[in-house]
Amino acid sequence: MNRETIKDIMQSQGILPQVKFGQNFLCDEDIIQSIVDLCEVSSVDHVLEIGPGLGSLTYPLSELTDNMTCVEIDHGLADYLSSNIRNAKIIDSDFTKTDNLGDFEVVVSNIPYYVMTDIMKKLFADYSDARKIVFMVEDEAIARIDCGPDTKQYGPLAILCSLYGTYKYEFKVPHTAFIPQPRTTSAVISFSREETADILCPEFVKFLNTCFSMRRKMLKKNLTPIASPDVIDEAFRSIGIKETARAEELTPEEFSRLYKAIN
Ligand code: SAM
Repeated sequence: MNRETIKDIMQSQGILPQVKFGQNFLCDEDIIQSIVDLCEVSSVDHVLEIGPGLGSLTYPLSELTDNMTCVEIDHGLADYLSSNIRNAKIIDSDFTKTDNLGDFEVVVSNIPYYVMTDIMKKLFADYSDARKIVFMVEDEAIARIDCGPDTKQYGPLAILCSLYGTYKYEFKVPHTAFIPQPRTTSAVISFSREETADILCPEFVKFLNTCFSMRRKMLKKNLTPIASPDVIDEAFRSIGIKETARAEELTPEEFSRLYKAIN
């Protein structure tokens, strides 16, 4: 889909991009094709797209497989896509509130910034069996995804990303690639699943949220609602975590071991 096609659809359907849903539609065909290539979809793959918008990624991806599911929060856009796209199932819903939609090998999303963390946490909780995840995010969000212990940005999101698998910064996307143009630049990133993702599930995400519930407090204190002091002490000892450690000091692997030890 190029700039003219997007403009035509918006005009003929009376669609005005909704800022509250982070609607910036991709209109650069080279970038669209590069994202589709990164997804490495084969005809047997089940593909999940979050926020298909006007279908910039949906149309080319749905040509590669008959098993594509998209979740779109905007009723107007969901209606439009349902009537126009032949080969994808459109679910008219807020992704963060959906029940598990099944198994997917590939997940793709040009993620709206306002809900990025919630969407990613839900993805890593419910769809961590996917072999490949491709996201477009605001460039500045990368700092919260690609960071390690003892940094200000480090938290559940970075830990989930790290445990899911191999992260790659693919390429920058200029604001001119969208209608309407956002103020910031974006980036396409990808994740390939590794075995460390086996731990990811809704309970693990809740566990991480509990660990970071009070960042400045000792981790032990944050854990008291979910495990007895004896269990926590023993787990800390066996993993070699110091008594006074705060959550931000632990590596993703230590969180994985700690979760196993107290469950
Ligand atoms: N994928 C399209 C593209 O690349 O042109 C649209 C991307 S636009 C940045 C983000 C899309 O996500 C919009 O269509 C918006 O309505 C949708 N969206 C926003 N929040 C959502 C949510 N919580 N659940 C599902 N879709 C959402």
